[in-house]
Amino acid sequence: LVQLPIPPPGPEAVRGNVPLAAAYLKLFARRQGLLTAFRIELLPAAVANTRGDRGLVEEILRRGPWMVGFTCCLWNIERTLWITRRLKEAATDLRVVLGGPEITLDNRWLLEERAVDYAVIGEGEQTFSELLAALRSGAGPTAPVPGLWTRQAKRPPRRKELPDLDAIGSPYVEGILDAGAQGTDVLRSRRRISTVSKAFVPPDLREVRSGAAAGESVMLLETARGCRYRCKYCYYPHGSGSIRRLSAEKLEENLRYADRQNVSEVFLLDPTLNQRADFADLLRLLARGNPRRQFTYSAELRAEGIDAATAHLLAAARFEEVEIGLQSLDPEAQRLMGRAVDLPALERGAKAMLDEGIRVRLDLILGLPGDTADSIRRGFDYLDRARPFSELQIFNLSILPGTAFRAQAAKLGLEFQPRPPYYVLKTPTLDTESLYRLMEEALDRFGIELDALPPVRLRAPRAQSEGTQGVPGPIFAQQKSGQSPPRQESGQSPGAGEEIVDQAAVDLDGPSPAASLPPAARRAQAFTLWLRAADFHARRDAAAQCVAAVLADNPHTTLQVVVEPADPRRLTSAALEAILAACHESLSYLDWYYSLHPRGRLGAKRLVVVAPWAKRRTLEPAWMRAVQDCATLVWCKDAAEGKIFEEAE
Ligand code: SF4
Repeated sequence: LVQLPIPPPGPEAVRGNVPLAAAYLKLFARRQGLLTAFRIELLPAAVANTRGDRGLVEEILRRGPWMVGFTCCLWNIERTLWITRRLKEAATDLRVVLGGPEITLDNRWLLEERAVDYAVIGEGEQTFSELLAALRSGAGPTAPVPGLWTRQAKRPPRRKELPDLDAIGSPYVEGILDAGAQGTDVLRSRRRISTVSKAFVPPDLREVRSGAAAGESVMLLETARGCRYRCKYCYYPHGSGSIRRLSAEKLEENLRYADRQNVSEVFLLDPTLNQRADFADLLRLLARGNPRRQFTYSAELRAEGIDAATAHLLAAARFEEVEIGLQSLDPEAQRLMGRAVDLPALERGAKAMLDEGIRVRLDLILGLPGDTADSIRRGFDYLDRARPFSELQIFNLSILPGTAFRAQAAKLGLEFQPRPPYYVLKTPTLDTESLYRLMEEALDRFGIELDALPPVRLRAPRAQSEGTQGVPGPIFAQQKSGQSPPRQESGQSPGAGEEIVDQAAVDLDGPSPAASLPPAARRAQAFTLWLRAADFHARRDAAAQCVAAVLADNPHTTLQVVVEPADPRRLTSAALEAILAACHESLSYLDWYYSLHPRGRLGAKRLVVVAPWAKRRTLEPAWMRAVQDCATLVWCKDAAEGKIFEEAE
């Protein structure tokens, strides 16, 4: 079972990828006695999070699987499909099963994919186990299995959900996942990466977005599945109809595990934590389950239901952060999205929590049908005045598969991206340009730094190509902010295969530059291509070919192209444009994801120009402007300890 991570926006380690859904599948199959016939392996995070596309294909094939299952979310579905095609080419008998929130009957482009044999729609535990049972006793299901799409059963009967969450058990308590013990700083930073609100998406997405990873100290916990609300942008009401609970006894068992494991945060995945009548009792139980107050809780809830006493109970249990949804102030937008907001009650609830020292993250959506530029600006005015939050999160609306908005898109006049993240591009009252401008206004007005590019971190390549070096050389990156140099992440834990390579230096003046790249299967998902040439203008086609070769092998890579000209003046705009065009020849999730971002130059590819500090006075301001229009300019200084790289102002 494979769960591919949110791609990192730069050459840095991925950590936010807990395969919780896969762990549930395995645990449920074990409870059905299926592990006497099947061995189920969760692809380790150290492999799933680091390998490039080809490397993942090789790692999966090396294990000789009989069937491979993927958890499919917005950020990994296209990469997953690319990988499944290669798997099927290499092993025609291999079975492929998909699950996760991307699997819905209205996501036809995905179900038409030839490499897919089975697709699990909705809650997966029972369906996956029934598929295994059918495969154990024959070639596969002979009659439609509820919730299971196959080529023979394209409209399967609806899956009846599990009666309660005790039926699934805890993958932590039962030894499938390890909540480990590392800091949660990464959790915070990973939360910033995704602009699709938790509130927009079903829990499977949140599991990953929450930023925890196997081995990190965050535990993901569902005390309930299902939501009584019916927000039309959200898949949850369709994916999970009734509300099912985890018993108090099982909840306490999970919390004892968290306490024993020295977990630092328990992230509650419930869609609306306070939708239950016994919410105060739940908070008391959570407080009792945290006797040393060593971990914090965080969750999403409706602020309208919070009074001073409840806020006090939240603080007593050690909630440090909650997320609440406002989404829109406009009555028509609220009507169309099926979510009414009681503004005075929301404000009172948010303030009660703020008064208790709880951080409140408030969500607002841009692009809801019914909203206009004026109504959104009125929302900004209100938020600026009332400030019922510690942090404001502004998201573009996604028209997610399986949602009421997706079903009604044509009727509502919504145009949206055909591929994830399915951002709305046009509504009857907002065009793309307005959405773009409104986001820019919001960022300026509220001082939001939305997914800023991480600082450039460079590691000087060795004299020859680094392509065969698995273990990186010394890092001499220096941040302007005075941060300490980044930890070396690239060579870590590549799994049982060969070491992976996260950087290759290519001399464009040499023969067949692209041929000097390290083998595609050994390249990391976050990869730096370091190009050198005496005359970049003359070698621009060779540079573009190298970029194209990297992306042809691993199209979903997060690619940093470093251009280091021997003579900076021979690095012309034409050369930079040729390299950028090659970068954008192939688009992946981060490119779509950042496409409505007003702060430019964000995506899966980043261009960095390295120039010698000693020559800076010889460079024309026009040259620097041209470079900085499309790349990050970095000065390279020689120092006693090696080369130091520093971003230009
Ligand atoms: S409250 Fe609305 S957005 Fe949140 S899970 Fe329920 S239906 Fe979805």
